This record gives sequence, C-alpha cells and structure tokens, in this order.
Amino acid sequence: MSAQHDFDFLVIGSGIAGLTFALKVAAAGRVGLITKKHRAESNTNYAQGGIAAVMSAEDTFELHVRDTLEAGAGLCRAEVVRAIIGEGPALVQELVEWGVNFSHREGVAEYDLGREGGHTKRRVLHAGDITGREIERALVEEASRQPNITIYENMLAIDLITSQKLGQPGANRCWGCYALDEKRRVVETFAAPVTMLATGGSGKVYLYTSNPDIASGDGVAMAYRAGASVANMEFVQFHPTCLYEPRAKTFLISEAVRGEGAVLRGRDGTPFMQHYHALADLAPRDIVARAIDSEMKKTGAEYVALDITHKPADFVRQRFPNIYAKCLEFGYDMTQKPLPVVPAAHYQCGGVVATVDGETDIPGLLAAGEVAHTGLHGANRLASNSLLEACVVAHRAAQKHGRVKCDIPPIPPWASGNAADPDELVVVTHNWEEIRRLMWDYVGIVRSDKRLLRARARIQNLQREINQFYWDYKVTPDLIELRNLAQVAELIVESALQRKESRGLHYTLDYPALLPAARDTVLRKS
Ligand SMILES: Cc1cc2nc3c(=O)[nH]c(=O)nc-3n(C[C@H](O)[C@H](O)[C@H](O)COP(=O)(O)OP(=O)(O)OC[C@H]3O[C@@H](n4cnc5c(N)ncnc54)[C@H](O)[C@@H]3O)c2cc1C
Repeated sequence: MSAQHDFDFLVIGSGIAGLTFALKVAAAGRVGLITKKHRAESNTNYAQGGIAAVMSAEDTFELHVRDTLEAGAGLCRAEVVRAIIGEGPALVQELVEWGVNFSHREGVAEYDLGREGGHTKRRVLHAGDITGREIERALVEEASRQPNITIYENMLAIDLITSQKLGQPGANRCWGCYALDEKRRVVETFAAPVTMLATGGSGKVYLYTSNPDIASGDGVAMAYRAGASVANMEFVQFHPTCLYEPRAKTFLISEAVRGEGAVLRGRDGTPFMQHYHALADLAPRDIVARAIDSEMKKTGAEYVALDITHKPADFVRQRFPNIYAKCLEFGYDMTQKPLPVVPAAHYQCGGVVATVDGETDIPGLLAAGEVAHTGLHGANRLASNSLLEACVVAHRAAQKHGRVKCDIPPIPPWASGNAADPDELVVVTHNWEEIRRLMWDYVGIVRSDKRLLRARARIQNLQREINQFYWDYKVTPDLIELRNLAQVAELIVESALQRKESRGLHYTLDYPALLPAARDTVLRKS
C-alpha cells in the first residue's frame, strides 16, 4: 500500500549537506530524510583530501577568498565566496562537536593542515586520507540519535511535488516529492512545507568517474523538471588520474603521486607532459587532464601510464599505503609496473541556482551541496572547497528556514495509470551505457561545436525513447536514474553550446579565447 508521510522538513540526500541541514532543523520540527541507498552512501563518504578553512595564524580569509576567485576564472560571486569562507572555522568547530576527528600534528594540539593545488596556504583539515568517511560517520551517528529525524533508506526520490503540478492557483511552490521504496516497489508521498534538495552531483553521466553510483544527477533533473533555474552545467571538473580497471571503477590515484615524481607516459612509453606545460607532470589539474585526453584521442589508446617505478619501492609503499594496497588488490604492483590511468569526471560545478542561504527560485525548495550552484566555484572549483560549501549553505538555510510551518494541501497519491511491468530492461542498460559513452567521447574535457551537436542529436533521440518507456512501464530505480542522467546530459550539452569561449573547465576548440565579459549560463524549462 502506498502511504503519505507528512513532515515539517523533508531532506532528500544523506551526504554532508543533507545531514547538516537535518541536524540543524531537528530542534524546530519533525524531519523526514530520504536517501536512495544505505544512509552513508554518498560522494561525501569518498572525499579524500579534506575540508578547506582558515585555521592558522599564517592564513587569512582574504587569502582564501583570493585563491577561490583565482580558480573560478571570473565567474565566482565574490559576496558568496566571502560569506562561505568567513563561516568556515565556526562550521569546522561544529563538525568537531558532532564527533569528527580531524588529524592533528604529531605531539602538538594543532590540526594538521594540508596544502592542495591552488591554495597558497596550508588550510585543508583532513582525517588521514579518508576525511569524507570520517565526516559521514560522525554525522550519520548524530542524526541516528535524534528522535525528531526519521531516516528512510533505499527511498529514491522520483519527482518534486509542486503546486503547479497539483493544478493549484498562484505562484509555483514545492510541497515535497514522490519517492520509490526500492524494496517494496511502491511509490510513496513525502510532503513538507520545506524541502531541502541535497542529492549531490552527476559524475555518472560520464563513462569514467571518481563518483560512486549514487551520483546520477537526480536533484538537478528533478528541480529542472519542476521549473527551477539551473546554471553553469558545462563546468565539469575532471580528475586527471583514475585507475583504468573496470573492477576498480571509482578509484582515484591521488595527485600527490605525481607530486612525488611519477611521470605520465604514452602508449609507447614516451613521457608527454613536457609538450603541454612548463611544469610538465606538475602542471595544474585541468591542464594534465586535457593533455591525457589529447594523447588518448591522438593515438586511440584507452589509457595512459603513470610511472613511479624509478622511486625506491619502500618509499612508494610507505608514502602511498592505501593506493599501493588497492592497486595490488587488482593485480597492479605500482613499484614494478606503471599504472594504467584515465581522467575521470569528478565534480559538478554548476547546479540548481541557489542563494548562499540555499533558496532556489521555487518557494519551499532549498538546495545545498554539490547539487546547488551558489556562485562559490565559478568556472573551476578550488580543491576542498566543496565540503565547506555544503555545510555552510546547509547551516545558513537552516538558520533562515528552520522555523517555517504551514498546512500541507491535499496531495493525490502517485498514479501509475495503465503502466505495465517493464518487459525489456535491456533498453535501460543499453541507453545508460550509450549516454555515458557519448558524453565521454563528445562532451568531455576538450569540446567542439561539431562534437556537441552530435551529442545533442543523439541525446534527443535517447530522451524520446526513454520518455516513452517511462510513461508506458512501471518505474524502476534504473529507469528513474536513466531518465535523470539523460536530462543532465542534455543540460550539460545545451550549456556548453551556449558558451562561446574557453573559460575554466570549459575548453572548446572552436572558441579558444576568453570573452571579456563573464556570464553564467542559466537554463530554465519553458
Ligand atoms: C573520490 C572523491 C573525492 C573527493 N574529495 C574531496 C575533498 O577532499 N574535499 C572536498 O571538499 N570535496 C571532495 N569531493 C567532493 C565532495 O565529496 C562532494 O562535493 C560532497 O561530498 C557533496 O556532498 P553532498 O551532501 O552535496 O552530496 P553527497 O555526499 O553526494 O550526498 C548525496 C546524497 O543524496 C542521495 N541521493 C541522490 N539522489 C537521490 C534520490 N533521487 N533520492 C534519494 N536520495 C538521493 C545519495 O544517496 C546521497 O545520500 C570528492 C568527491 C569524490 C567523489
């Protein structure tokens, strides 16, 4: 039997953004938190480097702001950058109070602050190289202790419920969502005057990604279908080196490996980075990703090699214990043979347009974390700023909207109509693979109008087929995600076609120059 669950606050997603918001509004009302897999499964859980905040006497807010603006290539919103960075230290302190154990310097009562690409000071708090897992653990434990928070696992949000869809008069407003109970295969109604969208990113739209399977862009697709504005989806950050091994589908090889002297080599074993940048293998992340992509396209190779075999084996094992062990699990001893690597989609800089207080342009709908576009990252994200953004925006949204209460109007249950049980699920698998492959080949690191137009034509065909399938058959988790993946692919392609310049993470052969005026690419359903 399908049911309706009414709450004061509905949260979709259990990463750092959703959990922070839920914990902060729990004192004010009843919170329903739905998440599509196990409660800890999220991008947050896989974050390695850490969370950036101004924590030392040598650092200043102005320097962190400057580094962020520099990375963002003219598209950051300065007031948003200042607000988020200014609240960083207080939010880090709250994470600590919720039980997050950040690493300390040995024998000193000070945090061990890491330094990453683009940061001019040491300011990255970390918990070893499993920072995300530690944050997720602490927040999940804290949320599970709160009597006012009910967590629904394996509950997949399908679509937002809006007054427009309900046929109510007046301005559009969000009233919650329909969600598929993946175990019982029933669609339930989750209703609340305030809905926080915290569904994370969309790395799965690409063939190679560092993201776990949950990252299928559901939040962006749902918000767009509901009428919200979505911005800057063309800015996809690619991590240069992911292990090329189907069984290790999301395993990152940290940039620190190149920092310690590893060399990228082409198919014939020749180093190539010196042809692309004066810093060769130590060039910035996006330049290395672009160089690898170019080598692969030129030679038709499926991967390049990352070689650190010239370093003493003991040093490699000690410096990279996790990476060494994980690669060995898949049969690669990095002290003996170069590792096969490919760049991989890593972070979605664009998203649902939201203020620094999480407000979207649909009243009742908030957004925070990777799903949202607040203007912090601009055209390129500064490393370790995303965990920071997620918790600051969730905190500010809770402060501003943590007291809203009003009556929920009658909401009809989900109607399946005459939908049949799907007969040929191979359609779903095939289209899923096709989208990810075509996005990789035509809408990847280096773009051109010709490639983008090719992608657009194919995505339009796929969307017709997927929509037909969606309306004719009962929904399944794979079908829901496929529909969202196709929607996000369309938004990335349309945004990329609209940007007639190369800026930050968007690089196109047809318009290699930067335009003098920086502008966001904003899309809204007509
Ligand atoms: C390998 C890796 C390393 C990273 N390292 C760093 C780092 O060092 N520092 C940094 O700042 N950032 C890092 N990032 C990025 C950072 O982890 C993410 O941007 C951040 O965790 C996003 O948090 P979030 O709460 O917005 O989303 P997530 O943590 O991804 O959580 C999204 C949640 O929404 C749920 N969900 C999604 N769709 C639905 C749906 N339809 N219905 C119900 N639930 C749904 C998911 O199951 C999940 O619980 C890294 C990312 C990866 C993948």
